[in-house]
Amino acid sequence: MNASLIDLKTERNRRDPNPDQIIIAGAGIAGLTLALALSAKGFPVQIFEKSATLAEAGAGVQLSPNATRILQRLCVLDQLTPSSVEPQAICLADGSSGEMLLSLDVGHVARTRWGSPYIVCHRADLQNALLEQARSQPNIAIQLQSAVTQYKPDADGIIVRVQYHDRIEEHRGALLVGADGVWSNMRTAMSDMERARYTSTIAWRSTIAADQLPKSFTSLLPQGINVVAWVGSNAHLVAYPIRSGEMFNFIAVAPDRQGGRRWDAGAVPETPSQNFIREFNLWHPGIRDIMLAGRPWTSWPLFEQRKCRYRIKDRLVLIGDAAHAMTPYAAQGAAMAIEDAWALASALGENIAAWPSALDAFDKTRSKRIKAVVRRGAMNQLAYHAKGPIAMARNMIMRKRPAEKFIEGLDWLYGYDGQI
Ligand SMILES: Cc1cc2nc3c(=O)[nH]c(=O)nc-3n(C[C@H](O)[C@H](O)[C@H](O)COP(=O)(O)OP(=O)(O)OC[C@H]3O[C@@H](n4cnc5c(N)ncnc54)[C@H](O)[C@@H]3O)c2cc1C
Repeated sequence: MNASLIDLKTERNRRDPNPDQIIIAGAGIAGLTLALALSAKGFPVQIFEKSATLAEAGAGVQLSPNATRILQRLCVLDQLTPSSVEPQAICLADGSSGEMLLSLDVGHVARTRWGSPYIVCHRADLQNALLEQARSQPNIAIQLQSAVTQYKPDADGIIVRVQYHDRIEEHRGALLVGADGVWSNMRTAMSDMERARYTSTIAWRSTIAADQLPKSFTSLLPQGINVVAWVGSNAHLVAYPIRSGEMFNFIAVAPDRQGGRRWDAGAVPETPSQNFIREFNLWHPGIRDIMLAGRPWTSWPLFEQRKCRYRIKDRLVLIGDAAHAMTPYAAQGAAMAIEDAWALASALGENIAAWPSALDAFDKTRSKRIKAVVRRGAMNQLAYHAKGPIAMARNMIMRKRPAEKFIEGLDWLYGYDGQI
């Protein structure tokens, strides 16, 4: 849209209830969690969400104790509990033989050692629980079909331009938070930051009703309710029950051998390509059968931000994937979005003059944390996708090393309770 058209259609929205409101772009996991955390501190919040609905594509999400602790404080966890599943263990298995290599008892340990449960749920259930809670707060307003397009500083704060249907509105606020995801407009259009980088890897996701799972696959599952990752050369498959155990969620991560993906392609329902199926040809038959049983598979090209940055300008901050989209090998993207939201709300006090230094401290602390989590993800990727002698060494370490040692190595990640 050219500038004159913008000016012609611009109308200052005079209904903004409070020029000190905090404006959030994006009602995803980061944006909704932030709205709840800010609202609990008494800040008025306005969220603009570009989509018309907030339904999430069918897929599951693992929420570790560092995330559920915050959801509990925001009264969201109890709403999620009826539909979520609390696995007894996280298990790692060899993709070709099916042999179980390692089992970490997160069910019991998460509550006793890290002080909050480890759960898995459908993303739509998480989004709905956050949304319901946000809608019940009088100081949170949510406007759908509204894309934040521009931002400019103003003497008393900021003015944000929002495309609502065919008109442009202007809204005044004290701070703009870009929680607009991996393809963040706030990140690219309003700063000098680079776009997310395509990793040439695709996550294929599918869900299958628990009573429709092939026998060859169920025979591979360890006793009980677990998250299981089968690891192998260049690829891995994760499976866990969701929707109170009625459905199974699958994520298969493999290289994109076809190439040519657009940088902003997003998730696409597809029949898995022969290349994708072929990736698992030498795997255990139970896993090959899952590749054929999943209908449809949705392909999620994996992107990452090489440089994490939260604080863009005095009154413009990024959180969640917009600040640091990461690959899913540590299953921490949503957890980091939730941690960001909690940390940002705890950093902001009533005195607006103190915000710049509070935001600097927020940026510094969170960037350090993200660096460590990204490092863990890269380590997991190396271990999961290893082949040849490295894979043999991996299997041996997992068989021999006491589970307690692996649990200890997760304390910094799952036991985290960061305030700024
Ligand atoms: C295959 C896969 C598996 C994963 N598994 C896990 C897991 O098990 N555990 C985990 O913790 N994480 C996981 N993640 C990561 C997690 O899904 C993301 O990190 C998380 O969804 C990021 O949340 P967000 O709120 O930052 O972004 P999003 O959820 O993408 O939300 C951004 C929102 O902003 C809106 N928006 C965009 N532009 C604008 C605009 N200009 N104006 C207004 N609104 C706008 C969008 O419509 C959207 O609603 C996984 C990711 C993948 C790809």
